[in-house]
Amino acid sequence: MIQSNKSIGLEVDYDDNLLNELLETALLHYPNEIGGYLLGKYSTDKSKAIIVKQMVALEYSNSPVSFNHTVNEETKKEFIKLFEEEGIHYLGEWHTHPNSDSRYSQTDFNALKKIAKGDIDPLLLIIGFDKKGIRDFSFNVFFNKKVYKYE
Ligand SMILES: [Zn+2]
Repeated sequence: MIQSNKSIGLEVDYDDNLLNELLETALLHYPNEIGGYLLGKYSTDKSKAIIVKQMVALEYSNSPVSFNHTVNEETKKEFIKLFEEEGIHYLGEWHTHPNSDSRYSQTDFNALKKIAKGDIDPLLLIIGFDKKGIRDFSFNVFFNKKVYKYE
């Protein structure tokens, strides 16, 4: 699937399997939030982020309404390994909203803003779900100090 945002000219490319995988993980941690990282690469002109795989955060604290993760040494090592072996790197993050929709919160916005201080326009995938399955999901990107949604 490819989603895009016309006003900023950026796209994200992902496999539908990604969502199935994340739903499985989401249900394992129900009713708490869970999340992690999106890894992949950019197209040559940098306009398209291609997600190759996801990774659940290795160190985190969570509750039904919060998810906080730490990029610890083990995580950094894993990122380096993935880059060396598969040529993929960090593109952004994902987390779940149990019994809720995929709208980003002020906390989500602030977290993305912090990540964006690096050299990337980070992605944020939010999965709104309940025990029956995914309610909705949204791909967002932090670009020029704002959050844009991919359609
Ligand atoms: Zn959130």
